[in-house]
Amino acid sequence: MFSQFALHERLLKAVAELKFVEPTPVQVAAIPAALQGNDLRVIAQTGSGKTAAFVLPMLSRLLGDGGSQPRVCLRAMILLPTRELAQQTLKEVERFAQFTFLKAGLITGGEDFKQQAAMLRRVDILIGTPGRLIEHANAGNLLLDEVEVLVLDEADRMLDMGFAEDVERLAGLCNGEHQTLLFSATSGGAGLREMVSKVLKDPTHLQLNSVSQLNEGTRQQIITADHNYHKELLVDWLLANETYDKAIIFTNTRVQADRLYGKLVARDYKAFVLHGEKDQKDRKLAIDRLRQGAVKILVATDVAARGLDVDGLDLVINFDMPRSGDEYVHRIGRTGRAGGEGLAISLICHNDWNLMSSIERYLKQRFERRNIKEHKGLYQGPKNLKASGKAAGTKKKKTDAKTGKKAAAKKPAAKSPSKRNTINKPKSDAPVLVSKDGLAPLKRRKPAEPGAE
Ligand code: AMP
Repeated sequence: MFSQFALHERLLKAVAELKFVEPTPVQVAAIPAALQGNDLRVIAQTGSGKTAAFVLPMLSRLLGDGGSQPRVCLRAMILLPTRELAQQTLKEVERFAQFTFLKAGLITGGEDFKQQAAMLRRVDILIGTPGRLIEHANAGNLLLDEVEVLVLDEADRMLDMGFAEDVERLAGLCNGEHQTLLFSATSGGAGLREMVSKVLKDPTHLQLNSVSQLNEGTRQQIITADHNYHKELLVDWLLANETYDKAIIFTNTRVQADRLYGKLVARDYKAFVLHGEKDQKDRKLAIDRLRQGAVKILVATDVAARGLDVDGLDLVINFDMPRSGDEYVHRIGRTGRAGGEGLAISLICHNDWNLMSSIERYLKQRFERRNIKEHKGLYQGPKNLKASGKAAGTKKKKTDAKTGKKAAAKKPAAKSPSKRNTINKPKSDAPVLVSKDGLAPLKRRKPAEPGAE
């Protein structure tokens, strides 16, 4: 129940209006800690409810006890890596602030600079991307000395996109008394640790177990394939025969995404493709069409799909196996959201098998094996497994599924399949509370393939 949190009553009213009943694990962990005024460093993924986890305490702080007169000046700022995420976050802020006097504004590239400068004087909360905000700071339009709460969302991705310096400079323009809430999907590397040490003051670390964020209603299956052309036939069959509202197909490379998209369009599917080479206009168009239901199928790479929040995505197809367990969780976390049913199908060639079974071990799952009789291939998994009848997870593997890093595997075998092959939640949903100095160790990813994103 949200009433367990000491949130302002107008926010509780908005939460009830939005029909949020149970707070998600990240909300249970982060809302009380943020309400205490601490700086926070939270590892949580898109789809976990993390936006409400920082927006609600932020708004509560701005509303105070309700005794003081409303004053319009910039009192909170949320930084995000992309325009689309900033737009999504603005909508969330407006939904939660609907019964308050607080006004929020958006500052991203591609919009009229003068209009933005005028808007900056009329809002309490600013949501934006670092590049354009720095331009306003340079032009003297951005006064941050009254900022009480600074949020850095998807901080790891802002770093990946080269925004570290801008973010740190914007944080430095705040008055020093402010609270900073830093969220990232991964534990990040040295760059993120450096940012944390520069912008956070004695932070509380909260790490949400990514596996616990998987949705119980999502079935997970694998279908073996002989080669990419075979995978294309399988995708075609699945799109034609599965029941779904909207589907997303993940590839590891731009080239493969474009190729598959071309094949689908040639087969008269209404589809869109999203990858790193598509500009913001294409992204927005693709996402709008998908949201409206004019398009049912999205072909995407991980980078392009990150942060995507589209209702009704109930079929996820991994054309290529993601390179790490966390990326897998990210991908299939898009389906079965907010209690809905979902289906995640991974297409597995011989070179995907080891990665797939290491991800099974990471998730302590065994994916349902499925065959499409119209397109049954020759490859059915490693021969020695079939001969011995062993579960996939019992074979020695060399890939660390969480990170995608090569490592000597010594984890226990995957458990036998549950009846429905749904994702089992770990026993406790409680987030792992990491000590004050407790950032997870640096993790390295497998080097990407050419054209990979
Ligand atoms: P986020 O991870 O913040 O992108 O949230 C993912 C989706 O879950 C958004 O559409 C939210 O509006 C929704 N959501 C967040 N928290 C809750 C909750 N406690 N109950 C129901 N839906 C929620």
